[in-house]
Amino acid sequence: MIADNLARVHERIASACARAGRPVQSVTLLVVSKTHPAGAVREAVAAGERKFGENYVQEGLEKIDLLADLRGPIEWHLIGPLQSNKTRPVAEQFDWVHTVERIRTAERLSAQRPPQLRPLSVCLQVNISGEAAKAGFAPADAAAAAQAVAALPRLALRGLMAIPEPAPDFETQRRPHRALRLLFEGLHRQGLALDTLSMGMSADLEAAIAEGATIVRVGSAIFGERPRSRR
Ligand SMILES: *Cc1c(COP(=O)(O)O)cnc(C)c1O
Repeated sequence: MIADNLARVHERIASACARAGRPVQSVTLLVVSKTHPAGAVREAVAAGERKFGENYVQEGLEKIDLLADLRGPIEWHLIGPLQSNKTRPVAEQFDWVHTVERIRTAERLSAQRPPQLRPLSVCLQVNISGEAAKAGFAPADAAAAAQAVAALPRLALRGLMAIPEPAPDFETQRRPHRALRLLFEGLHRQGLALDTLSMGMSADLEAAIAEGATIVRVGSAIFGERPRSRR
């Protein structure tokens, strides 16, 4: 069932790329395994997936441990909130953090990234819909934050990430994704070599790809709905 769902998601990505005139390899599927057991990740690995996203630090660390035999081929991405007192195990165990929303957190991740590992890939989270309760840098602060984070020695600043407000139709979904892309292009013009726009989920991946997403983060379209109690 997971393999069938994955095939469907890859078809959606391929048609969205075709419509946007983009090569299908320009979009990476990040399989969001939060709230789903390690066995579900194994099934996705058997179906060919290698990149997994976790929201909760503790749950992610437990799964990384349970799947230690697959550590070589798998890439683990943190896509949920990161408190600055929880950075050490993340710097030590994850490959990516999409949700850097404070310079202080980035500084700690850089200081704590073990020297024998590659620099930790990070994205700045941007509060692109301007929601009061949403995490992320305000768009107006993103450029200064990007310059500061890009200067940290043990981090590789890869790009920007956003979780736009849910919207009912394609054109409305496109707007915040377009805003994130324009911000991204602005950073390019300032000389930052970024390659990642992390945007698009189960409900809006087509709109995100139309606006240039390079990583789409997809959970429920692969694993089914999450248990409600968790979030
Ligand atoms: C849960 C989550 C996703 C996946 O959402 P789906 O709607 O299940 O595809 C993507 N990104 C983030 C940050 C999430 O928390």
